[in-house]
Amino acid sequence: MRLILLGPPGAGKGTQAEILKEKLGIPHISTGDMLRQVLKEDSPLSKKVKRFVERGELVPDEIILEIMKQRLSSADTEKGFILDGFPRTIKQAQGLEQLLKKMNKQIDLVLYFATSVEKIIERLSGRLVCSRCGMNYHLKNMPPKEEGVCDKCGGELSQREDDQEETVRKRIDVYLKQTAELIEFYKSKGILRTLDANRDAQEVYKELIRLFEKEGFNLKSNDFHKISERAESHA
Ligand code: AMP
Repeated sequence: MRLILLGPPGAGKGTQAEILKEKLGIPHISTGDMLRQVLKEDSPLSKKVKRFVERGELVPDEIILEIMKQRLSSADTEKGFILDGFPRTIKQAQGLEQLLKKMNKQIDLVLYFATSVEKIIERLSGRLVCSRCGMNYHLKNMPPKEEGVCDKCGGELSQREDDQEETVRKRIDVYLKQTAELIEFYKSKGILRTLDANRDAQEVYKELIRLFEKEGFNLKSNDFHKISERAESHA
């Protein structure tokens, strides 16, 4: 199954993707996580992307598309993938379509995480991220069992540099100007489904399960497969 999680920063896409990846047995591909990994290296790519990420601006499409071209050609994406934070522009969405077309594949569903600006700010200002595995927590809504320590891998939790208020505002602005138009783009292809992502993670997850079942995807089976072939073509 090939999924895109679309929505503003702080919508809870990463949290749901982490649960879904276990459930579906397909990788969670977050361009934000990949870029943060790149930033830890001392490489030409790292130098190129640093200033964009630090300022909350989008990294140029060509760079992102090249990174994704490589990522989507790895064997672990054969059964599907969950894209989180990509595509973020129409150009990226078109690039993704071309890439998948060459592999005879297409996106099954785009899940749009509709979230209010107040919720985004509340979530991002309390967000903590594991420096080792990237797992997300929230000071109030989803605290770790032990303060400052990741439940999953024991790594150290900290606030992301770009979760500081000024950068958050910039990222919301960038989302509204450059990414929100993807809602219409995918709606017109008939594959966009909207979730109310203002609610807590458990409620959103329940809605996701209902939605999958309604769409004819069997979530109860372990190897999660499509039970009804979709004739519609949206490539
Ligand atoms: P995220 O973790 O998805 O909020 O991404 C963090 C930052 O990485 C963003 O503010 C951008 O600077 C950069 N970034 C992540 N994904 C993309 C993308 N698809 N296109 C351009 N920039 C991206």
